[in-house]
Amino acid sequence: MDSLLKKLSDAPGVSGFEEEIREIIIDELKDHVDEVEVDQMGNVITTRKGKPNGKKIMLAAHMDEIGLMIRYIDKNGFIKFSKIGGINDQMLLNQEVTIHTDDGEVTGVIGSKPPHRMKESERKKILDYENMFIDIGAKTKEEAEERVKLGDPITIKQEFTKLGNFYKGKALDNRIGCAIMIEVMKRAETDATLYGVGTVQEEVGLKGAKTSAFKLNPDMALALDVTIAGDHPGIKEEDAPAKMGKGPAVILVDASGRGLITHPMVKKLIITAGNEDVIPYQLEVSEGGTTDATAIHLTREGIPTGVISPPTRYIHTPVSVVDMEDVENAVNLILAVLKRL
Ligand SMILES: [Zn+2]
Repeated sequence: MDSLLKKLSDAPGVSGFEEEIREIIIDELKDHVDEVEVDQMGNVITTRKGKPNGKKIMLAAHMDEIGLMIRYIDKNGFIKFSKIGGINDQMLLNQEVTIHTDDGEVTGVIGSKPPHRMKESERKKILDYENMFIDIGAKTKEEAEERVKLGDPITIKQEFTKLGNFYKGKALDNRIGCAIMIEVMKRAETDATLYGVGTVQEEVGLKGAKTSAFKLNPDMALALDVTIAGDHPGIKEEDAPAKMGKGPAVILVDASGRGLITHPMVKKLIITAGNEDVIPYQLEVSEGGTTDATAIHLTREGIPTGVISPPTRYIHTPVSVVDMEDVENAVNLILAVLKRL
């Protein structure tokens, strides 16, 4: 599964520009499913038909990643950018980036005022992204515009590679979910009809999940995403109890209940499957962010929904870290759930 995750993590897919991720999913699944469809929003819906009276289950993994976008090019060819999705400004400084244009990739670096020329008070403050810019080595606006244009999406350069016992990559949120979805679609043994959906624009408002869930109207849905691993310096255990290597997190509540409160039937199903098949998992009640499940469970008359999330360190940075065993166990846990439907 690591080679699949590498392919997914290294490919660019800033919100609204998920084409390459969609192509990988289609390529991986076309021989394993009955139908493949790309809807108006850009979601990819793969279907494995089950027994006529079987349940309909949606597995949703968002394809998009956070990133940047060209907002303005100044007269000297320097680029100002907008942030797409939840980005902490400090992780941007002095990164190498790739600008994705219609004619291919352009490399840039994020520059800023040199610390030597900062006043004492400036140096103590976190530099915000408005005071950063991208340098593509152009000398004039005209020259820059020959290579890039307004609205081009940008990703931070960071290759998926091994990191000791783990792996690190730029877009583990949420190519991990995509990899899990692909594996489950390939391996599931179930009477249910399975919809493996790669959703668009989760990071900017759970958009693809909303429209695809409406279309599919499943009996139950699982969102596949990542959660914060709180097993490193700088974070208190009580603030993020999930640890890498202890199995995927089963989300009971996220965003203090404003996001998802997992449906009791779904919760029971996952916990029973995990316990009976002895698959490690961790329960999580979180006050932080949310997932596609928030949009899915409020679709139409309400859809019982849960979330399975391998704990991942440093999410929403280009150096996210995951334990592949948690990813494998997320797949195993979902297969165990599907077997019981
Ligand atoms: Zn995510």
